[in-house]
Amino acid sequence: MRGFLFGLILGVALFCGQVSFAKTVVVVSIEPQVYFVQKIGGSGFQVEVMVPPGAEPHAYEPRPRQMQMITKAKAYLAIGVPFEKVWLKRFKQQNPQLRIFYLDKGIKKYPLEEQVVFVQKRDSSIKGELDPHIWLGLDEAKQIAKNTFNALAKIFPDQKAVFKKNLEQFLVHLDQLKKDFNQKLRLLKGKTFLVFHPSWGYFARCFGLKQMAIEVKGREPSAREMAEIIKLAREKKIAVIFIQPQFARKKAEVIAKQLGARVVSLDPLARNWEKNLLKVVDSLLLK
Ligand SMILES: [Zn+2]
Repeated sequence: MRGFLFGLILGVALFCGQVSFAKTVVVVSIEPQVYFVQKIGGSGFQVEVMVPPGAEPHAYEPRPRQMQMITKAKAYLAIGVPFEKVWLKRFKQQNPQLRIFYLDKGIKKYPLEEQVVFVQKRDSSIKGELDPHIWLGLDEAKQIAKNTFNALAKIFPDQKAVFKKNLEQFLVHLDQLKKDFNQKLRLLKGKTFLVFHPSWGYFARCFGLKQMAIEVKGREPSAREMAEIIKLAREKKIAVIFIQPQFARKKAEVIAKQLGARVVSLDPLARNWEKNLLKVVDSLLLK
């Protein structure tokens, strides 16, 4: 078995042309980044994700095992999620050789209060805070792809030409995807959907939709605020409520029952970014 495994590893190493390429560890913050990294960089190197499925990226705390992994990593691709603020510094202390790239470079971030249907008083605590969920916007995704290419081309300079070709194909594909989504969602322009956590601001902006949120800054609504949300949701004829696995679904179900709306579970952090967005579009179109 050991001989077989050794042969296998050697085979993979030879296949990849050089041992270091196959062994190189690139770390990303969230699952959807894996999709971008693999579209552009292929699967010839190891990608590790800091925030595991189901965990929450706003206040994530890396495990000791992950700090260990950082010591072996060559690069970190940050995307601007809040936990990075504290932890990137610590990663760099842990591994001074670690190269950090910022994939939110060149992306305009909007204040959260412009990204949600603002409920006066209740939402005033979010004023001035920038919405970090850039990877769910189609235009933002294009810039993330370009930034991912720039980072990977620096980490693996001898693969640059291959990565460049992959990037160009991916950008064409993203344009097509946006066109398809626009076509599908054209009749919903100006409509509002209700989400538990306000992750979908960039997606909504891209297609002329609006999101309303149940939870704000990790705080669930009081009974009075719930009544306010339900009233507003009724006015806006909301038919679907999106929840995500990182947050509790109870409040959403209470609201859904009162509105006669459906609850759909959507994960803004799903690894298969594209399949996930297709699911969002289909869910919005359900009557
Ligand atoms: Zn979030």
